[in-house]
Amino acid sequence: MARVYNFSAGPAVLPVEVLQEAADEMLDYRGTGMSVMEMSHRSKAFETIIEDAEATLRELMNIPDNYKVLFLQGGASQQFSAIPMNLMKNGVADYIVTGQWSKKAQQEAARYGTANIIASSADQTFSYIPDCSDLPVSDNADYVYICHNNTIYGTVFHELPNTKGKILVADMSSDILSQPVNVEDYGVIYFGVQKNVGPAGVVVAIIREDLIRDDVMEATPTMLKWKTQADAKSLYNTPPAYGIYICGKVFHWIKDQGGLEAMKAHNEKKAAILYDFLDSSEMFKGTVVKKDRSLMNVPFVTGDADLDAKFVKEAKEAGFENLKGHRTVGGMRASIYNAMPIEGVEKLVAFMKAFEEANK
Ligand SMILES: *Cc1c(COP(=O)(O)O)cnc(C)c1O
Repeated sequence: MARVYNFSAGPAVLPVEVLQEAADEMLDYRGTGMSVMEMSHRSKAFETIIEDAEATLRELMNIPDNYKVLFLQGGASQQFSAIPMNLMKNGVADYIVTGQWSKKAQQEAARYGTANIIASSADQTFSYIPDCSDLPVSDNADYVYICHNNTIYGTVFHELPNTKGKILVADMSSDILSQPVNVEDYGVIYFGVQKNVGPAGVVVAIIREDLIRDDVMEATPTMLKWKTQADAKSLYNTPPAYGIYICGKVFHWIKDQGGLEAMKAHNEKKAAILYDFLDSSEMFKGTVVKKDRSLMNVPFVTGDADLDAKFVKEAKEAGFENLKGHRTVGGMRASIYNAMPIEGVEKLVAFMKAFEEANK
């Protein structure tokens, strides 16, 4: 068996212990004589799986009782529509656009109401987070929206925007469970799991109870109405059962690592190895304003497209996969999620040093 160091932005690396456990349970899940893929979502065994996944996530994130946890389908992108449909009462929302994902969310919301852009970092190719301490939040805004960690550009909100009392909605697809979060700062937190938690096909939404309503926008599909899913405990129809099962295992893995404080320490240590090197290198440069750097996604360039391509090719040959930057940005990007071991980043940096030496 040869595992590579996988720096993919998503779907991304998962803990090897989790994959091994899933492999061991593949043919006979705990005496049921079948795999989790083959069992009824109404069975006792699956009920235990989904309840345990929710309970473990609640424990890890310290989610208050007045928040619901929903396991949904459609990826993060489907919530781009579900959010305005469920939350727009006045038909107005304010978006902070810090990258492609928040831009897509804003564009989708504009189909259902007024989706103002109250701040943006588009002027500098999304390489920073705008000052959000005193924004022109609309008096009648139903919510303020952010993408907490910008997967493509490698920026993160180290400080939350001042929403002037409005509900904050956050896409945390690429940094969920990488550090502690104060859930009460948000009305809604949601994340597609394929970046930092599990296999594609599951999106988790953590929603304050009073925001789960019956009087949603008229045309909201039954499936996209959060109340449908909350009332049915995420079992309105067949859920992405196998994905939820793997997510539950990853939640336990994080708990075994020491929880979110431990994850944060691990991620800070890991990211520092790469950022310190980028700051000292003559060849490689980070593309993001230092104070807004993400712990999860690290874009960098040499400044020469041919050299970038040579680096990506040679890195792949050396067992470092998926380092090519997003197609809209170019250069390189190392995604170093929870499950990327420190050793992976140390070896990558050693490789970069050798490459720099050889290509001076
Ligand atoms: C990947 C990603 C998305 C899109 O996720 P899908 O599940 O493919 O819809 C949205 N937001 C962020 C921050 C992402 O990283």
